[in-house]
Amino acid sequence: MSTILEPGQIEASAVMPPFLHLPPANLFTVRAARLEQLAEGHPFGDYLRLIARLCRVQQQLVDNPPAGLPVAEQRQRLCISHGLPPLAADSLVREGPWLVWLQALLGHFADEPDGPLRETVKLLCDSDDSQRKGWAIALLGGQYDAVPAALVPLLGAALQAAWASWLLALPAPELKPASSLAQCPACGSPAMAGVVRNRGKHNGLRYLACSLCACEWHVVRVKCVYCESSKDLRYSSLEDDRHGPGKAPLRAECCPGCQSYLKQHYLENDAAAEPLADDLASLALDIRLDEEGFHRLAPNLMVAPGA
Ligand code: FE
Ligand code: FE
Repeated sequence: MSTILEPGQIEASAVMPPFLHLPPANLFTVRAARLEQLAEGHPFGDYLRLIARLCRVQQQLVDNPPAGLPVAEQRQRLCISHGLPPLAADSLVREGPWLVWLQALLGHFADEPDGPLRETVKLLCDSDDSQRKGWAIALLGGQYDAVPAALVPLLGAALQAAWASWLLALPAPELKPASSLAQCPACGSPAMAGVVRNRGKHNGLRYLACSLCACEWHVVRVKCVYCESSKDLRYSSLEDDRHGPGKAPLRAECCPGCQSYLKQHYLENDAAAEPLADDLASLALDIRLDEEGFHRLAPNLMVAPGA
């Protein structure tokens, strides 16, 4: 058998961008550090520091998982061969293997002093599994009116820790693109933001970051991830004296066709940007785009919209 590649094969492998960019094993530590940095002098500094604290607990859970992968290897392979996400959020959230992760997370707040966080922890501790499942199904389904807003960060943190841990435990996942550009190939959840990467084989490529499992998948640039139009897209950013025009490290890709937008982080303009942290620190941009009539379809599980 010959191992010599034909010229066409060489070109194909040279131009084919890697489909996946997996998060590092310490993703929640990286996120916490970024949040603490962004909290300095920020109008919502206390909130960003609270989320940073939650991220440090998420990292402890990932480092000491309360349970293993809930999906047998055979089912993973079957899903992947049929082009389905092996960690499908819509079925796993109902089956409930993440409930032990929520229980473990609550254990980290057992000695919380009196205050709003203690109230929230108590509400979760007093609820039973079917209530917890109901809230989680509503949160992942984007039905925020069915979840008390204060619960969202704690519930979101438990779900993210479970799914990110499961993603990292998948044996060398060979995932295929989902039916929609904005849908995670690993768990089927919607993207939270885009990241234009700046290093190595991913340099200059856009990846979308999953709102649940933190998997990143490649999507070509300058294309609306919701309606797939490339027509008249515009890029909006917050005023920032530190960056020249067109150099803002965070720009929202706004599509006049479907009136939707997705935030994008440009690592060449700020290598320390982290999709979830920088999204929370730039909610002022969401308020402005909402006033301009654009819809946000990208969830951030650490905040209830409008809360
Ligand atoms: Fe995902
Ligand atoms: Fe669009």
